[in-house]
Amino acid sequence: MKENVVIIGGGPSGIEAARRIRNFGYTPILIEKELRLGGHLAQWDRLFPEGVYAKEVLQTLLSDMDGIKWFTDVQILTINRLKDTYVIKLTNGISVQSKAVLITTGFQLFQAEKKEEYGYGIYNHVITNADLERYFQNRKDSRIDDPKVIGFVHCVGSRDEKAGNRQCSKVCCATAVKQACEIKQLYPDATVYCFYMDLRMFGRRYEDMYLEAQQKYGIRFIRGRVSEVSENHEGRLVVKAEDTLFGRPLRLSMDLLVLMSGIVSSHQSQELAKMIKLPVGEDGFFLPQNTILEPCKSQKQGIFFAGACTGPKTIPESLSEARAAAVAINDYFNTMTE
Ligand SMILES: Cc1cc2nc3c(=O)[nH]c(=O)nc-3n(C[C@H](O)[C@H](O)[C@H](O)COP(=O)(O)OP(=O)(O)OC[C@H]3O[C@@H](n4cnc5c(N)ncnc54)[C@H](O)[C@@H]3O)c2cc1C
Ligand code: SF4
Repeated sequence: MKENVVIIGGGPSGIEAARRIRNFGYTPILIEKELRLGGHLAQWDRLFPEGVYAKEVLQTLLSDMDGIKWFTDVQILTINRLKDTYVIKLTNGISVQSKAVLITTGFQLFQAEKKEEYGYGIYNHVITNADLERYFQNRKDSRIDDPKVIGFVHCVGSRDEKAGNRQCSKVCCATAVKQACEIKQLYPDATVYCFYMDLRMFGRRYEDMYLEAQQKYGIRFIRGRVSEVSENHEGRLVVKAEDTLFGRPLRLSMDLLVLMSGIVSSHQSQELAKMIKLPVGEDGFFLPQNTILEPCKSQKQGIFFAGACTGPKTIPESLSEARAAAVAINDYFNTMTE
């Protein structure tokens, strides 16, 4: 009989891992807490750096699900290990057994309302990166009304000791540059600012995207943190910032402010960590056995990781790790039968 492999989390990492694990001859059982598979990928419109549609990437991943079992709208109630087998009780009353469990529970976005000085949830024209992706998908958002001046605030809830997250979220500089160009495509007459601390355009062709943002779209990059946002009597946003390159304070009126909320460890991952007694770092993300040599292995036998549950990653990185996890799980079964 084929061995089961339970995969917790049906985002891009979980789906890709399921396909690869199936290709090795096992029966993957994918468990997703939301109503549909896709994770954050299903929430994005176009992807950096090439502008490929996220929907197309997801459709490609979901086009080859033969031999994979999955449950949606389901959570884990308990996980217990009996000898070498994990027994997992689900909230739908079903119980599944597996010698290997892969965790692909991803991340959650930093809650932007925690940074009160930026006014998310207080002022109508302050939105997040995720809100803007939703707008790009369906062009419906009453907060976006023919904006003439638009600002993007980098590092919201990242690299910020006070917000409880010292780490860089890695993907939000590239997302901000991509979104700034996209909003210029929709509103060509708008003036668009990006307020950044450092620009982390680390990937292949990302620098081209940054150059294009300046040269083709005229995006104005200002090095400095936004200190305060308020609203004037006309309902426009008043944004105070400091331009640290020129050493001058700025006060700009704007029609839309987009907060680049960072990537943080999800509550569900932390609950799962407690349930299985798996260690997490001070940033709340799962800790692999060895971050260089064994990034997909946990510190517990038979438990593996892939994707953004161990820290911020791009989609290609998450998919590569999912494939690596499938190999690690196959090796694990092979050593069991030796
Ligand atoms: C605004 C923004 C834009 C981005 N744009 C890009 C881009 O253009 N290009 C790019 O390469 N990357 C981009 N990224 C990064 C990309 O979103 C991640 O690389 C990718 O989503 C990671 O996939 P994942 O499957 O590991 O995690 P996720 O996408 O977070 O999926 C995890 C899944 O697990 C489920 N889950 C969690 N806990 C449980 C549980 N206990 N039980 C069951 N299910 C559970 C969740 O519901 C979710 O479906 C962007 C990120 C942000 C924040
Ligand atoms: S990727 Fe850019 S915006 Fe995101 S936390 Fe790092 S420096 Fe800030």
